[in-house]
Amino acid sequence: MKAVIVERPLEIRIADVPKPEIQNNADVLIRVLCGSICGSDIGIYRGTNALATYPRIIGHEYGGVVEEIGAGVANLSVGDVVAVDPVRACGHCYACSVGRPNVCKSVEVTGVHRDGGFAEYVVAPASAAYRIDTARVDKGLISLVEPYSIGAQVNHRADIHAGDRVLVMGAGPIGVSITQVAKSRGAEVLITDIFDSRLDRAKSMGADVTVNVSTGDLDREIDRFTGGEGMPVVVDSVCSTASFEQSVAVASQAGRVVTLGLLSRPSQIAMVELTKKELDVRGSRLNNHRFPEVILGFEDGSLTPAGMLTSAFRFSEVEKAIARLLEHPELECKVALRFD
Ligand SMILES: [Zn+2]
Ligand SMILES: [Zn+2]
Repeated sequence: MKAVIVERPLEIRIADVPKPEIQNNADVLIRVLCGSICGSDIGIYRGTNALATYPRIIGHEYGGVVEEIGAGVANLSVGDVVAVDPVRACGHCYACSVGRPNVCKSVEVTGVHRDGGFAEYVVAPASAAYRIDTARVDKGLISLVEPYSIGAQVNHRADIHAGDRVLVMGAGPIGVSITQVAKSRGAEVLITDIFDSRLDRAKSMGADVTVNVSTGDLDREIDRFTGGEGMPVVVDSVCSTASFEQSVAVASQAGRVVTLGLLSRPSQIAMVELTKKELDVRGSRLNNHRFPEVILGFEDGSLTPAGMLTSAFRFSEVEKAIARLLEHPELECKVALRFD
């Protein structure tokens, strides 16, 4: 079968590799239908993802059709269309024991630490493959369950509920998925970016207020949005040292700040800022069994991912797809790869 392999940084190719086989009776064999490209795939390609090892079949946003099931699989049948959760945990460390396998001390992500989903076939544990009703969800959208699971995880970590006013910094795919999940929970969302085109998309996908921070006055807009209280919930999906500092600065008294960044450079935040407002500052990483709720949202229409897909390429054109994303961050949101 063919697979998208990053041999080493800056060297990506379509390779012929052995088709994977079911080794364990809890596994399923999946014929991949589609994938979508994430910033972390590009990081592996460029050599800036410190977690990646090479050579690697990339891709952690993907889904397909179940073609074979292991003898012990009861939750899936041949022909089911599934999205695959890329998080793999040890099951017995402290984090796993308290129900947080997404931060398992030896957590691995398929497509980063292990081979991933940009291949014609994948074998995955049946417990990580979630069925989607294709009568209600376009098959071309199934790879978007994973990025929405990131948005759902942030909503859990930020404890977002009806009536909350939320600032989402950054209107890329993650910012948009956070926004849609927050809206589905009844929150109001102010989203920022430096490109009007991305803000227009965020608005069409549900954001209540948009602010272009390169031309607008964010503090004034926050005052207007919150009646001068400051933001009760801030999510930083820009993930720069400055955006983290700003998240803390614009949070209200008794507010919550959620960060998703993986930057190792420190931000400058004085302890008084946290203490004086009694802020909850929380990290949010990957997703903790959020696929079922995201799939439910796709099926019942409370999440509408179609607006996120801006281009599609055959998987054999993966280099072109990556170049397109890098050259036009203002126009592209999610770029799909088709495998069928
Ligand atoms: Zn991703
Ligand atoms: Zn663990």
